[in-house]
Amino acid sequence: MENLIKKAANTIANAQNIAALTGAGISVESGIPPFRGQGGVWERIDPMEYAHIDALIQNPVKVWNMLIKEMASMVGVAQPNDGHKGLVRLERQGCLKTIITQNVDGLHQKAGSTDVIEFHGSFAWLRCMQCNKRCETGTADLSVIPPRCECGGIFRPDCIFFGEIIPPDVLMRSHQVSSECELMLVIGTSATVQPAASIPMTAKAATGAVIIEINPEPTPLTEQDSDIFLQGKAGDMMNRIGKFMPSSFGFEI
Ligand code: NAD
Ligand code: ZN
Repeated sequence: MENLIKKAANTIANAQNIAALTGAGISVESGIPPFRGQGGVWERIDPMEYAHIDALIQNPVKVWNMLIKEMASMVGVAQPNDGHKGLVRLERQGCLKTIITQNVDGLHQKAGSTDVIEFHGSFAWLRCMQCNKRCETGTADLSVIPPRCECGGIFRPDCIFFGEIIPPDVLMRSHQVSSECELMLVIGTSATVQPAASIPMTAKAATGAVIIEINPEPTPLTEQDSDIFLQGKAGDMMNRIGKFMPSSFGFEI
């Protein structure tokens, strides 16, 4: 494993155009459970019952009480971990250009990353289902569920539910970033939710990009596209990579 980590560190240190694709796993060490895998939210609730747009439209109170309220309470208090912070160091060094995240928790931005594509939108904002007015989740009155806009409409999180499409501008920019990078770090994603799951393939097909994957468990990507699979937790693995990085990257503690 140490040799593999060293190889990954060398590859990262020598790359000039890196993109990162992150999923729920990168935020697990910040206390936010993933959807799939051990301890995942899906073990307790059925996604189609709570995370589908039809469920939200048909029974907003139920979806708010079960899924959204829980997310809102976690996202408000969670702090970035060493996984998020490692990506900030790579950005400051100039080699990591853009993060494409499936997460809605805003932790990359909270850590200090500046170019983050929120592929599935953000939990930091609510949007009125009637007039489209937006309001910061942190300032919303959640004592009454579902929260309502001045117009009487129901506020929903400004993120993508199952059954909804990814906005075209987000898709286009993600495609551009992934088809230009020479190295893609794929961290904490089960690589099963489309179209995000095909982003590493785009990178590979366009430039032959090297794929470095970090995950405690193998994914469909591991066999198919990953050149280096580092089996472990995001924050922990980032620190281990950091030990082999040139000091200019600022990983020393
Ligand atoms: P996922 O829940 O499908 O998969 C999570 C992956 O993370 C798994 O492969 C798991 O093995 C891995 N993992 C678990 N602990 C880890 C750790 N410490 N370090 C690294 N990896 C770890 O997540 P997904 O692939 O991102 O896709 C599901 C959807 O769930 C996304 O669209 C996202 O919007 C949503 N989601 C977001 C959050 C969040 O914002 N934090 C949380 C839950 C779900
Ligand atoms: Zn409104």
